[in-house]
Amino acid sequence: MIKFLDLHKLNQPFEAEFKEKFQSFLDNGWYILGNEVNQFEENFAKYCSSKHCIGVGNGLDALVLIFKAYVELGQLQKGDEVIVPANTYIASILAVLQADLVPVLVEPSLETYNINPDLIEEKISPKTKVILPVHLYGQSSEMDKISEIAQKYNLIVVEDAAQAHGIKFTGNYVKAFSFYPGKNLGCLGDGGAVVTDDDKLAEIIRMLRNYGSKVKYENDFIGVNSRLDEIQAAFLNIKLPHLDAENEKRSAIANRYLSEIKNDKITLPNLSLRGTKQSHNHVFHLFVIRTEKRTDLQNYLKENGIETMIHYPIPPHKQNALSSWNGLSFPITEKIHNEVLSLPLNGVLTDDEVSKIIKVLNEWTS
Ligand SMILES: *Cc1c(COP(=O)(O)O)cnc(C)c1O
Repeated sequence: MIKFLDLHKLNQPFEAEFKEKFQSFLDNGWYILGNEVNQFEENFAKYCSSKHCIGVGNGLDALVLIFKAYVELGQLQKGDEVIVPANTYIASILAVLQADLVPVLVEPSLETYNINPDLIEEKISPKTKVILPVHLYGQSSEMDKISEIAQKYNLIVVEDAAQAHGIKFTGNYVKAFSFYPGKNLGCLGDGGAVVTDDDKLAEIIRMLRNYGSKVKYENDFIGVNSRLDEIQAAFLNIKLPHLDAENEKRSAIANRYLSEIKNDKITLPNLSLRGTKQSHNHVFHLFVIRTEKRTDLQNYLKENGIETMIHYPIPPHKQNALSSWNGLSFPITEKIHNEVLSLPLNGVLTDDEVSKIIKVLNEWTS
């Protein structure tokens, strides 16, 4: 069986270092916001060519805290509207709601699966204050066009980079990352971070994640408890230097899929934008194909020993949690959710496994 993602195998090369680190963690007796978190914040800020990194509990909180910090700064207020892609993992939308802001959904482009920049302007109202592009599946959103719109309407841009560790960012917008185990840079539990060049924003997020406090027992904001765990930061410090290599392996496999999968019942990712501009790059968090007969294909692959996943089966506006939106129509988003299938794609897949996946896909007659 070719697993979709073998986390044990993925982390195995680091086990000796993890064990050593864990022993010194035990010896140290310092569990919260210690040297490892400080070190990771420094390392990851540098990796992102950014001034500040603030480690938080998870990717969702990274987004929520960014919005809450803008509220504390007086740049956002309750009820302001945030432009978000209709085609995203629900966390992007939940974050907007948790900060008492209003998500305004925009259809994706079928070529990129990311927000369609040409449909943003028609959704802008006097209450619109933010655009939240999500670099879905690891592919950069069309940031050049998004930046232009943001400038024209004086909007804040917040990037959901939870699937895009290592893409070349354009512009110095604030970014939210997740280190959920399956992400390109994953820890062994939950973790997240905010990366920004904005001193004031960074200072407030640093306080908000820790009860709104800078000096112990003095609280300046109504904060939360969402700190990157010290031991997870230690694991991330060990894994970060290997992120580029992991991304290169993913890219090499993706290139094989792109050139060797040949089946007219299967739509491969359209990467025509890739490489044309700096903003259109891809770190292949996921390799997502489309077919009208998804259930058949998924079963066929399973029978042939290949595990796949669906990212994602139900669009946010059709979720029970967002019942007031269930009647809305986003046909491109719905089409994507009905047709997508994610193939195994990660650094521990062997060449033979990749060859097998390609062969089995090419032999599918539906
Ligand atoms: C994973 C993910 C998140 C949330 O990250 P968690 O660490 O699971 O909270 C947010 N947005 C996107 C697009 C994600 O893929």
